[in-house]
Amino acid sequence: MKYDLVIQNGKVVLEDKVIHSNIGIKDGKIADVFESDQFIADNVIDANNKYVMPGAIDTHTHFFEPGASYREDFEHGTKAAASGGFTCIMEMPNSNPAVVDLETFEMKRKFAEKGAVIDYALWGGATATNLDNLDILKNLGCIALKGFTLYAGTAFPYLNTEMQMDAMKKVKALNMILGFHAEDPVIVKTLTEKYQSQSWNLKIHDMSRPYYAELAAISQILLFSKETGCPVHICHLSIPEGAELISKAKQDNVNVTVESCSHYFLLNYEDYYQYDTYALIQPPIRSRRRMDNMWKYLMNGTIDYLATDHAPYTEEEKEPENGNKWDVMGGSPSIDVAFPMMFDETVIKRGMDPIQFVKLSSTNAAKRFGMYPRKGSICKGADADIVILNPNEPWIIDRSKSFSKSKNTKFPYQGRKVNCKVNTTLVRGNVVYNNGQITVDNGHGILIKP
Ligand SMILES: [Zn+2]
Repeated sequence: MKYDLVIQNGKVVLEDKVIHSNIGIKDGKIADVFESDQFIADNVIDANNKYVMPGAIDTHTHFFEPGASYREDFEHGTKAAASGGFTCIMEMPNSNPAVVDLETFEMKRKFAEKGAVIDYALWGGATATNLDNLDILKNLGCIALKGFTLYAGTAFPYLNTEMQMDAMKKVKALNMILGFHAEDPVIVKTLTEKYQSQSWNLKIHDMSRPYYAELAAISQILLFSKETGCPVHICHLSIPEGAELISKAKQDNVNVTVESCSHYFLLNYEDYYQYDTYALIQPPIRSRRRMDNMWKYLMNGTIDYLATDHAPYTEEEKEPENGNKWDVMGGSPSIDVAFPMMFDETVIKRGMDPIQFVKLSSTNAAKRFGMYPRKGSICKGADADIVILNPNEPWIIDRSKSFSKSKNTKFPYQGRKVNCKVNTTLVRGNVVYNNGQITVDNGHGILIKP
Protein backbone atom coordinates (compact mmCIF):
# COMPACT_ATOMS: atom_id res chain seq x y z
CA MET A 1 0.00 0.00 0.00
CA LYS A 2 1.10 3.57 -0.67
CA TYR A 3 0.46 5.64 2.44
CA ASP A 4 -0.35 9.34 2.60
CA LEU A 5 1.87 9.61 5.63
CA VAL A 6 4.07 7.38 7.73
CA ILE A 7 5.13 8.24 11.28
CA GLN A 8 8.28 6.18 11.59
CA ASN A 9 10.56 5.15 14.37
CA GLY A 10 8.19 5.93 17.25
CA LYS A 11 7.68 4.47 20.70
CA VAL A 12 4.06 3.65 19.90
CA VAL A 13 1.64 3.25 22.81
CA LEU A 14 -0.92 0.61 21.89
CA GLU A 15 -3.70 -0.53 24.21
CA ASP A 16 -1.78 -3.55 25.49
CA LYS A 17 1.88 -2.79 24.78
CA VAL A 18 4.42 -0.17 23.84
CA ILE A 19 6.34 -1.06 20.68
CA HIS A 20 9.02 0.51 18.56
CA SER A 21 7.13 0.84 15.31
CA ASN A 22 5.81 2.81 12.32
CA ILE A 23 2.27 3.99 11.69
CA GLY A 24 0.93 4.09 8.12
CA ILE A 25 -1.85 6.60 7.51
CA LYS A 26 -4.21 6.63 4.54
CA ASP A 27 -7.31 8.82 4.02
CA GLY A 28 -7.14 10.13 7.55
CA LYS A 29 -7.21 6.66 9.11
CA ILE A 30 -4.58 4.43 10.62
CA ALA A 31 -4.00 1.86 7.89
CA ASP A 32 -1.25 -0.13 9.57
CA VAL A 33 1.11 -0.38 12.50
CA PHE A 34 4.24 -2.07 11.15
CA GLU A 35 7.94 -2.55 11.73
CA SER A 36 9.45 -2.84 8.26
CA ASP A 37 11.67 -0.05 6.90
CA GLN A 38 10.36 -0.79 3.42
CA PHE A 39 7.31 1.33 2.63
CA ILE A 40 6.05 3.91 0.16
CA ALA A 41 4.56 7.16 1.44
CA ASP A 42 3.92 10.71 0.23
CA ASN A 43 5.17 12.11 3.53
CA VAL A 44 7.21 10.83 6.43
CA ILE A 45 7.53 12.11 9.98
CA ASP A 46 10.48 10.74 11.90
CA ALA A 47 9.32 10.34 15.50
CA ASN A 48 12.91 9.69 16.50
CA ASN A 49 12.03 7.29 19.31
CA LYS A 50 9.64 9.75 20.99
CA TYR A 51 6.29 8.64 22.38
CA VAL A 52 3.54 8.29 19.76
CA MET A 53 0.16 8.12 21.48
CA PRO A 54 -3.53 8.49 20.72
CA GLY A 55 -4.42 12.19 20.83
CA ALA A 56 -5.81 13.29 24.17
CA ILE A 57 -9.58 13.67 24.62
CA ASP A 58 -10.80 16.31 27.06
CA THR A 59 -14.09 15.30 28.67
CA HIS A 60 -14.59 18.77 30.17
CA THR A 61 -13.91 21.99 28.22
CA HIS A 62 -15.39 25.51 28.39
CA PHE A 63 -14.95 27.81 25.38
CA PHE A 64 -17.73 30.31 26.29
CA GLU A 65 -19.02 30.55 22.74
CA PRO A 66 -21.76 31.70 22.33
CA GLY A 67 -21.70 34.21 25.17
CA ALA A 68 -18.47 35.36 26.77
CA SER A 69 -16.20 34.56 23.81
CA TYR A 70 -13.85 37.36 24.89
CA ARG A 71 -12.59 34.80 27.44
CA GLU A 72 -12.09 31.95 24.98
CA ASP A 73 -13.61 30.74 21.73
CA PHE A 74 -13.45 27.63 19.58
CA GLU A 75 -10.67 28.97 17.38
CA HIS A 76 -8.23 30.01 20.11
CA GLY A 77 -9.29 27.27 22.50
CA THR A 78 -8.81 24.43 20.04
CA LYS A 79 -5.47 25.86 18.86
CA ALA A 80 -4.31 25.89 22.47
CA ALA A 81 -5.69 22.36 22.86
CA ALA A 82 -3.85 21.13 19.75
CA SER A 83 -0.59 22.62 21.05
CA GLY A 84 -1.21 20.67 24.24
CA GLY A 85 -1.79 17.27 22.61
CA PHE A 86 -5.59 17.22 22.43
CA THR A 87 -7.27 15.97 19.28
CA CYS A 88 -10.89 16.01 20.50
CA ILE A 89 -12.67 18.01 23.17
CA MET A 90 -16.09 17.56 24.74
CA GLU A 91 -17.41 21.10 25.14
CA MET A 92 -19.67 21.91 28.07
CA PRO A 93 -23.22 23.21 27.55
CA ASN A 94 -23.27 26.01 30.13
CA SER A 95 -22.49 28.77 27.66
CA ASN A 96 -24.86 31.71 27.24
CA PRO A 97 -27.33 30.72 25.99
CA ALA A 98 -26.93 27.21 27.34
CA VAL A 99 -27.21 24.24 24.94
CA VAL A 100 -30.66 22.95 25.91
CA ASP A 101 -32.63 22.61 22.64
CA LEU A 102 -32.39 22.59 18.84
CA GLU A 103 -31.84 26.31 18.45
CA THR A 104 -29.05 26.59 21.03
CA PHE A 105 -27.35 23.39 19.84
CA GLU A 106 -27.27 24.72 16.27
CA MET A 107 -25.96 28.06 17.46
CA LYS A 108 -23.02 26.42 19.20
CA ARG A 109 -22.42 23.92 16.40
CA LYS A 110 -22.01 26.79 13.91
CA PHE A 111 -19.44 28.55 16.09
CA ALA A 112 -17.53 25.30 16.48
CA GLU A 113 -17.71 24.48 12.77
CA LYS A 114 -16.21 27.85 11.88
CA GLY A 115 -13.46 28.01 14.49
CA ALA A 116 -12.33 24.59 15.68
CA VAL A 117 -9.06 23.14 14.38
CA ILE A 118 -9.49 19.82 16.25
CA ASP A 119 -12.54 17.58 16.56
CA TYR A 120 -15.22 18.30 19.09
CA ALA A 121 -18.23 16.72 20.72
CA LEU A 122 -20.92 18.78 22.42
CA TRP A 123 -22.46 18.14 25.82
CA GLY A 124 -26.15 18.98 26.12
CA GLY A 125 -27.66 20.58 29.20
CA ALA A 126 -30.12 18.78 31.50
CA THR A 127 -31.68 21.70 33.36
CA ALA A 128 -34.71 22.37 35.54
CA THR A 129 -36.66 23.44 32.44
CA ASN A 130 -35.89 20.94 29.65
CA LEU A 131 -36.18 17.46 31.21
CA ASP A 132 -39.20 16.58 29.06
CA ASN A 133 -37.29 17.34 25.85
CA LEU A 134 -33.96 15.63 26.32
CA ASP A 135 -34.67 13.37 23.34
CA ILE A 136 -34.07 16.39 21.08
CA LEU A 137 -30.51 16.68 22.38
CA LYS A 138 -29.95 12.98 21.89
CA ASN A 139 -31.15 13.12 18.30
CA LEU A 140 -28.92 16.11 17.58
CA GLY A 141 -25.90 14.05 18.60
CA CYS A 142 -24.99 15.40 22.03
CA ILE A 143 -22.20 13.26 23.45
CA ALA A 144 -23.83 13.21 26.91
CA LEU A 145 -25.95 15.43 29.17
CA LYS A 146 -24.72 17.64 32.00
CA GLY A 147 -26.58 18.78 35.09
CA PHE A 148 -25.68 20.91 38.09
CA THR A 149 -26.66 20.06 41.65
CA LEU A 150 -26.35 23.69 42.75
CA TYR A 151 -26.81 27.22 41.45
CA ALA A 152 -24.93 27.67 38.17
CA GLY A 153 -26.25 31.00 36.91
CA THR A 154 -29.65 31.91 35.47
CA ALA A 155 -28.82 30.55 31.99
CA PHE A 156 -28.50 27.04 33.43
CA PRO A 157 -31.22 26.25 36.02
CA TYR A 158 -29.86 23.54 38.30
CA LEU A 159 -31.48 20.22 39.19
CA ASN A 160 -32.81 19.97 42.73
CA THR A 161 -32.87 16.60 44.47
CA GLU A 162 -36.20 15.50 43.01
CA MET A 163 -35.21 16.68 39.52
CA GLN A 164 -32.00 14.66 39.71
CA MET A 165 -34.04 11.51 40.20
CA ASP A 166 -36.43 12.50 37.41
CA ALA A 167 -33.54 13.34 35.07
CA MET A 168 -31.85 10.00 35.72
CA LYS A 169 -34.98 8.05 34.82
CA LYS A 170 -35.29 9.99 31.58
CA VAL A 171 -31.61 9.83 30.65
CA LYS A 172 -31.56 6.10 31.35
CA ALA A 173 -34.56 5.64 29.02
CA LEU A 174 -32.68 7.55 26.31
CA ASN A 175 -29.61 5.33 26.80
CA MET A 176 -27.42 8.36 27.45
CA ILE A 177 -24.94 9.39 30.17
CA LEU A 178 -25.71 12.08 32.75
CA GLY A 179 -22.74 14.09 34.01
CA PHE A 180 -22.87 16.16 37.17
CA HIS A 181 -21.19 19.11 38.74
CA ALA A 182 -21.61 17.71 42.26
CA GLU A 183 -21.74 20.05 45.26
CA ASP A 184 -24.58 20.23 47.76
CA PRO A 185 -26.53 23.50 47.27
CA VAL A 186 -27.65 23.94 50.88
CA ILE A 187 -24.22 23.40 52.43
CA VAL A 188 -22.58 25.75 49.92
CA LYS A 189 -25.23 28.48 50.31
CA THR A 190 -25.27 28.30 54.12
CA LEU A 191 -21.50 28.37 54.54
CA THR A 192 -20.96 31.01 51.86
CA GLU A 193 -23.37 33.28 53.73
CA LYS A 194 -21.65 32.45 57.01
CA TYR A 195 -18.15 33.39 55.80
CA GLN A 196 -19.04 36.21 53.44
CA SER A 197 -18.42 38.94 56.04
CA GLN A 198 -14.75 37.93 56.07
CA SER A 199 -12.40 38.85 53.27
CA TRP A 200 -12.13 36.12 50.67
CA ASN A 201 -9.06 33.92 50.28
CA LEU A 202 -8.41 30.42 48.95
CA LYS A 203 -8.65 28.79 52.39
CA ILE A 204 -12.02 30.40 53.15
CA HIS A 205 -13.12 29.41 49.66
CA ASP A 206 -12.50 25.79 50.63
CA MET A 207 -14.33 26.32 53.94
CA SER A 208 -17.36 27.82 52.20
CA ARG A 209 -17.54 24.89 49.75
CA PRO A 210 -16.10 22.13 51.97
CA TYR A 211 -15.22 18.56 50.98
CA TYR A 212 -18.44 17.25 52.51
CA ALA A 213 -20.56 19.46 50.22
CA GLU A 214 -19.03 17.58 47.30
CA LEU A 215 -19.17 14.24 49.09
CA ALA A 216 -22.89 14.66 49.93
CA ALA A 217 -23.80 15.48 46.33
CA ILE A 218 -21.75 12.57 44.95
CA SER A 219 -23.29 10.22 47.48
CA GLN A 220 -26.80 11.16 46.40
CA ILE A 221 -25.96 10.83 42.70
CA LEU A 222 -24.53 7.35 43.28
CA LEU A 223 -27.62 6.36 45.25
CA PHE A 224 -30.00 7.56 42.53
CA SER A 225 -27.87 5.98 39.83
CA LYS A 226 -28.09 2.64 41.65
CA GLU A 227 -31.87 3.05 41.98
CA THR A 228 -32.47 4.03 38.35
CA GLY A 229 -29.62 2.29 36.53
CA CYS A 230 -28.75 5.60 34.86
CA PRO A 231 -25.11 5.82 33.69
CA VAL A 232 -23.57 8.79 35.49
CA HIS A 233 -20.35 10.74 35.19
CA ILE A 234 -18.89 12.74 38.07
CA CYS A 235 -17.21 15.90 36.79
CA HIS A 236 -13.98 17.39 38.17
CA LEU A 237 -13.60 15.34 41.36
CA SER A 238 -11.53 17.27 43.92
CA ILE A 239 -11.61 15.05 47.02
CA PRO A 240 -10.10 11.65 47.89
CA GLU A 241 -13.18 10.86 50.02
CA GLY A 242 -15.28 11.10 46.85
CA ALA A 243 -12.88 8.81 44.99
CA GLU A 244 -13.17 6.24 47.79
CA LEU A 245 -16.97 6.38 47.62
CA ILE A 246 -16.95 6.03 43.83
CA SER A 247 -14.53 3.12 44.06
CA LYS A 248 -16.95 1.29 46.36
CA ALA A 249 -19.91 2.15 44.13
CA LYS A 250 -18.07 0.68 41.14
CA GLN A 251 -17.55 -2.54 43.09
CA ASP A 252 -21.29 -2.42 43.78
CA ASN A 253 -21.90 -2.27 39.99
CA VAL A 254 -23.12 1.33 39.96
CA ASN A 255 -22.71 2.61 36.39
CA VAL A 256 -20.39 5.49 37.22
CA THR A 257 -17.19 7.01 35.86
CA VAL A 258 -15.25 9.96 37.20
CA GLU A 259 -12.95 12.63 35.85
CA SER A 260 -10.47 14.78 37.69
CA CYS A 261 -8.21 17.62 36.60
CA SER A 262 -4.54 18.54 36.83
CA HIS A 263 -5.27 21.25 39.44
CA TYR A 264 -6.55 18.73 41.98
CA PHE A 265 -3.22 16.86 41.78
CA LEU A 266 -0.86 19.82 41.46
CA LEU A 267 -2.45 22.75 43.33
CA ASN A 268 -3.60 23.26 46.91
CA TYR A 269 -4.64 26.33 48.86
CA GLU A 270 -1.60 26.13 51.13
CA ASP A 271 1.23 26.16 48.58
CA TYR A 272 -0.66 28.25 46.00
CA TYR A 273 -2.34 30.64 48.45
CA GLN A 274 -0.81 33.72 46.83
CA TYR A 275 -2.43 32.96 43.46
CA ASP A 276 -5.66 34.07 45.08
CA THR A 277 -8.61 34.33 42.64
CA TYR A 278 -6.42 33.01 39.79
CA ALA A 279 -6.58 29.65 41.57
CA LEU A 280 -10.30 30.05 42.30
CA ILE A 281 -11.89 26.99 40.75
CA GLN A 282 -15.17 25.14 41.51
CA PRO A 283 -14.97 22.78 43.32
CA PRO A 284 -12.13 24.50 45.20
CA ILE A 285 -8.53 23.38 45.19
CA ARG A 286 -8.17 21.63 48.56
CA SER A 287 -5.58 21.19 51.31
CA ARG A 288 -2.13 19.77 50.62
CA ARG A 289 -3.14 16.59 52.42
CA ARG A 290 -6.22 16.06 50.26
CA MET A 291 -4.25 16.83 47.13
CA ASP A 292 -1.61 14.25 48.10
CA ASN A 293 -4.32 11.65 48.79
CA MET A 294 -5.91 12.19 45.38
CA TRP A 295 -2.82 10.61 43.80
CA LYS A 296 -3.64 7.16 45.16
CA TYR A 297 -6.88 7.13 43.19
CA LEU A 298 -5.27 8.33 40.00
CA MET A 299 -2.52 5.72 40.17
CA ASN A 300 -4.85 2.84 41.13
CA GLY A 301 -7.32 3.47 38.30
CA THR A 302 -10.34 4.67 40.32
CA ILE A 303 -10.26 7.95 38.41
CA ASP A 304 -11.18 7.26 34.80
CA TYR A 305 -10.23 10.45 32.97
CA LEU A 306 -7.86 13.39 33.15
CA ALA A 307 -9.95 16.38 32.08
CA THR A 308 -8.97 20.05 32.01
CA ASP A 309 -12.11 22.02 33.00
CA HIS A 310 -10.35 24.71 30.94
CA ALA A 311 -12.16 27.96 31.74
CA PRO A 312 -10.16 31.17 31.49
CA TYR A 313 -11.38 34.49 32.88
CA THR A 314 -9.95 37.95 32.25
CA GLU A 315 -7.89 40.02 34.64
CA GLU A 316 -10.85 42.40 35.08
CA GLU A 317 -13.00 39.43 36.11
CA LYS A 318 -10.43 37.90 38.45
CA GLU A 319 -9.54 41.25 40.03
CA PRO A 320 -12.87 43.13 40.18
CA GLU A 321 -12.76 46.90 40.66
CA ASN A 322 -15.11 46.77 43.63
CA GLY A 323 -12.71 44.34 45.33
CA ASN A 324 -15.44 41.81 46.14
CA LYS A 325 -13.75 38.49 45.50
CA TRP A 326 -16.78 36.54 46.70
CA ASP A 327 -18.39 37.29 43.32
CA VAL A 328 -15.41 36.19 41.22
CA MET A 329 -16.15 33.31 38.86
CA GLY A 330 -14.37 29.99 39.32
CA GLY A 331 -12.18 28.72 36.52
CA SER A 332 -8.64 28.64 35.19
CA PRO A 333 -6.99 27.85 31.83
CA SER A 334 -5.02 24.63 31.37
CA ILE A 335 -5.88 23.01 28.05
CA ASP A 336 -2.48 23.80 26.54
CA VAL A 337 -0.44 22.53 29.49
CA ALA A 338 -2.43 19.83 31.31
CA PHE A 339 -1.44 16.87 29.10
CA PRO A 340 2.37 17.31 29.15
CA MET A 341 2.29 18.36 32.84
CA MET A 342 0.39 15.22 33.80
CA PHE A 343 2.53 12.93 31.61
CA ASP A 344 5.53 14.39 33.42
CA GLU A 345 3.97 13.92 36.87
CA THR A 346 2.61 10.41 36.26
CA VAL A 347 4.84 8.54 33.77
CA ILE A 348 8.14 10.37 34.22
CA LYS A 349 8.08 11.20 37.93
CA ARG A 350 5.88 8.43 39.40
CA GLY A 351 6.56 5.58 37.01
CA MET A 352 3.03 5.12 35.70
CA ASP A 353 2.85 2.77 32.72
CA PRO A 354 2.30 4.90 29.55
CA ILE A 355 -0.48 2.45 28.64
CA GLN A 356 -2.34 3.45 31.80
CA PHE A 357 -1.68 7.12 31.12
CA VAL A 358 -3.22 6.82 27.65
CA LYS A 359 -6.31 5.22 29.19
CA LEU A 360 -6.67 8.28 31.42
CA SER A 361 -5.96 10.79 28.69
CA SER A 362 -7.86 9.20 25.82
CA THR A 363 -9.04 5.58 25.63
CA ASN A 364 -11.39 5.50 28.63
CA ALA A 365 -13.25 8.60 27.41
CA ALA A 366 -13.56 7.28 23.87
CA LYS A 367 -14.97 3.99 25.17
CA ARG A 368 -17.41 5.49 27.66
CA PHE A 369 -18.77 8.19 25.35
CA GLY A 370 -19.23 6.06 22.25
CA MET A 371 -16.31 7.31 20.17
CA TYR A 372 -14.27 4.10 20.30
CA PRO A 373 -12.58 2.60 18.26
CA ARG A 374 -12.75 5.59 15.94
CA LYS A 375 -11.05 7.65 18.67
CA GLY A 376 -8.91 6.77 21.67
CA SER A 377 -6.66 4.09 20.21
CA ILE A 378 -3.84 3.50 17.79
CA CYS A 379 -5.30 0.59 15.88
CA LYS A 380 -6.10 -0.26 12.30
CA GLY A 381 -9.15 1.67 11.05
CA ALA A 382 -9.11 4.34 13.78
CA ASP A 383 -8.95 8.05 13.00
CA ALA A 384 -5.29 9.03 12.82
CA ASP A 385 -5.56 11.29 15.90
CA ILE A 386 -2.04 11.19 17.22
CA VAL A 387 0.28 13.11 19.50
CA ILE A 388 4.06 12.89 19.38
CA LEU A 389 5.62 13.73 22.74
CA ASN A 390 9.29 14.09 23.54
CA PRO A 391 9.89 12.73 27.07
CA ASN A 392 13.27 14.49 27.28
CA GLU A 393 12.56 18.08 26.34
CA PRO A 394 12.32 20.34 29.39
CA TRP A 395 10.56 23.68 28.94
CA ILE A 396 9.09 26.44 31.07
CA ILE A 397 5.38 27.26 30.89
CA ASP A 398 4.81 30.81 29.70
CA ARG A 399 1.17 31.77 29.33
CA SER A 400 2.01 34.89 27.28
CA LYS A 401 2.94 32.55 24.40
CA SER A 402 -0.27 30.51 24.50
CA PHE A 403 -2.64 30.15 21.54
CA SER A 404 -5.45 30.67 24.04
CA LYS A 405 -7.22 34.03 24.22
CA SER A 406 -6.08 34.04 27.82
CA LYS A 407 -2.42 35.12 27.88
CA ASN A 408 -2.46 36.46 31.42
CA THR A 409 0.71 35.27 33.15
CA LYS A 410 -0.96 35.52 36.56
CA PHE A 411 -1.83 31.86 36.58
CA PRO A 412 -0.72 29.04 38.85
CA TYR A 413 1.42 27.16 36.31
CA GLN A 414 3.35 30.20 35.03
CA GLY A 415 7.07 29.44 35.23
CA ARG A 416 6.55 25.76 35.98
CA LYS A 417 9.17 23.42 34.49
CA VAL A 418 7.82 20.47 32.49
CA ASN A 419 10.19 17.69 31.42
CA CYS A 420 8.32 16.54 28.32
CA LYS A 421 6.92 18.46 25.38
CA VAL A 422 4.25 17.97 22.75
CA ASN A 423 6.03 18.22 19.39
CA THR A 424 3.32 17.31 16.89
CA THR A 425 -0.44 16.74 16.94
CA LEU A 426 -2.40 15.11 14.12
CA VAL A 427 -6.17 15.04 13.67
CA ARG A 428 -7.54 12.57 11.13
CA GLY A 429 -4.12 12.24 9.54
CA ASN A 430 -3.47 15.97 9.15
CA VAL A 431 -0.77 17.71 11.14
CA VAL A 432 -2.66 20.41 13.05
CA TYR A 433 0.20 21.49 15.31
CA ASN A 434 3.94 21.18 14.80
CA ASN A 435 6.72 22.71 16.92
CA GLY A 436 4.96 25.93 17.86
CA GLN A 437 2.86 26.36 14.71
CA ILE A 438 -0.79 25.65 13.91
CA THR A 439 -0.74 24.14 10.44
CA VAL A 440 -4.41 23.89 9.42
CA ASP A 441 -7.14 26.45 8.73
CA ASN A 442 -9.88 27.32 11.19
CA GLY A 443 -12.78 24.93 10.79
CA HIS A 444 -10.64 21.82 10.30
CA GLY A 445 -12.38 20.15 13.25
CA ILE A 446 -15.61 18.19 12.84
CA LEU A 447 -18.48 17.32 15.15
CA ILE A 448 -18.17 13.86 16.70
CA LYS A 449 -21.39 12.15 17.75
CA PRO A 450 -21.64 9.08 19.98
ZN1 LIG B 1 -16.64 22.99 34.21
